[in-house]
Amino acid sequence: MKIICIGRNYTEHIEELHNERPSDPVVFLKPDTAILLKKQAFFIPDFSKDVHHEVEILVKINKVGKHIDKKFANKYYDEISVGIDFTARDLQSKLKEKGLPWEKAKAFDGAAVIGKWISKKNFDDVNNIDFSLEKNENIVQKGNTQLMLWKIDELIEYVSKYFTLKIGDIIFTGTPSGVGKVIANDKLKGFIENKELFSITVK
Ligand code: ZN
Repeated sequence: MKIICIGRNYTEHIEELHNERPSDPVVFLKPDTAILLKKQAFFIPDFSKDVHHEVEILVKINKVGKHIDKKFANKYYDEISVGIDFTARDLQSKLKEKGLPWEKAKAFDGAAVIGKWISKKNFDDVNNIDFSLEKNENIVQKGNTQLMLWKIDELIEYVSKYFTLKIGDIIFTGTPSGVGKVIANDKLKGFIENKELFSITVK
């Protein structure tokens, strides 16, 4: 399976990092080795002094597809969750400056936290889902999918022009504002509405 991630999909997050608003979605991949295994702690890698949490809505692909029209994109997933796209921000900034790929800053072991999957049938409208991240019992990031620059179905249309989507592939749909540094002993919990879908400790 592969993990397809979207960058710069929420205006306020683009502004907090002083990035340009993209004319097309920013896309990058994480390998399956980036998945933080269930019940494991997240270890801050020794090559970074500034690892950030980015909480994101996740979509799990349930059907093989290529060149999927956004009108039919809703048939390609029936579960969603929330996760973290851990980012070594110091390393990413260096790579960005030089125009180099971001993988070392985004695709390292443990950098993809995946919450428990829930059926999209739980929601009247996937384009109006509240989600949030708690750090040590305080809400640090809050988003709603209606604030996405590209909505889930548009993202599926876009990424499937480049990559064949396969069963089990996961799309990380971008982070709202409020990203920030994690340190040892932080406890991070991800929520969709009031449902807690992951809980991890940083080491
Ligand atoms: Zn992200």
